Amino acid sequence: MSHVKLYIPGPVEVSPATYAAMSAPMMGHRGKGFVDLYAEIQPKLQALFGTKQQVFLSTSSAWGVMEGSIRNLVKKKVLNCCNGAFSDKWFDVSKRCGKEAEAYQVEWGQPVMADEIDKRLATGEFDALTFIHNETSTGVLSPIAEIAALKKKYPDVMFITDSVSGFTTVPVNFDELGIDVLLTGSQKAFALPPGLALFAASAAAMKRAETIDDRGYYFDFIEFRANGEKSMTPSTPCISLIYGLKHQLNQMLTEGLDNRYARHARLNGMVHEWVRRNGFEFFAPEGYRSKSLTCVANNKGIDVAAFIANLKRDHSLIIDGGYGKLKGKTFRISNMGDETDESITALIGALDDALSKL
Ligand SMILES: *Cc1c(COP(=O)(O)O)cnc(C)c1O
Repeated sequence: MSHVKLYIPGPVEVSPATYAAMSAPMMGHRGKGFVDLYAEIQPKLQALFGTKQQVFLSTSSAWGVMEGSIRNLVKKKVLNCCNGAFSDKWFDVSKRCGKEAEAYQVEWGQPVMADEIDKRLATGEFDALTFIHNETSTGVLSPIAEIAALKKKYPDVMFITDSVSGFTTVPVNFDELGIDVLLTGSQKAFALPPGLALFAASAAAMKRAETIDDRGYYFDFIEFRANGEKSMTPSTPCISLIYGLKHQLNQMLTEGLDNRYARHARLNGMVHEWVRRNGFEFFAPEGYRSKSLTCVANNKGIDVAAFIANLKRDHSLIIDGGYGKLKGKTFRISNMGDETDESITALIGALDDALSKL
């Protein structure tokens, strides 16, 4: 099927093999077929998350679990670490959930840093924090291990981590990090269509949730746990996406996680090389650049809309023209999911051609 190939940072390109896997026949979600499917993928998800805890399947986009984490875990006050569109929005969502919230705001393009978080948690005001591992709007990868290490110092603070666009492109080991929630979504590096979020929660997180009255229903962690113990979900799940997930998990484990991380680093490096060769700059500082996408600073002042129009017209592919207030000032190129050396080589050829026609 001819179509416009996606090099935007989500949704990303979905392979024909994944679509084929998703077309398996429908079944009841309380019957043996679904229970078997759930039980089959659960240990694979646990291997991927690096956890002995259950990994839950939420029929929602990632924001459902991002909001749900706030509702399940914040009692006193949440510290929202903000360095881009998604993390800034989480601060807004915390307030909309009726919670006391404070932003630790850094300039878009910068990482959030452990010492700054430490200073704020030291006030004793907070019982939760939100943190985005890979800020997709700016292409910034914040130092997750250093931030997670603070958990030892602040055991009563819930460390809620979004790795929606970082997960499976770089190692993230839930139990080793010792964080409380790790959440991700299907349409980024999993290379599935949107509509499924995945998350793990610590024993401490479950304990906290038990003490909170207004958790609601759809994203109630206690409901997820009770149903998960029976290899089920609280409500009717997106079964087709879960068939796709099973396929993608098998692909990932066949490739090997270390090979998968190495592939993302290598393909990201190829895009970086294109950026340098063409005299562009990176929006994120060295050492904090995402491995799943590249946020290119438009220091040369090219017409980004025309550039993307060229890509679409002559190469049937698109990249992203910059998120929100960064529109035109940056552009973003995704290399996450099922991309290969061949596909990224072809992308780079297309980028060169489209640039030369401006
Ligand atoms: C895409 C994304 C989200 C939001 O995902 P939805 O699927 O739109 O809910 C959240 N955080 C990050 C870092 C993302 O990249």
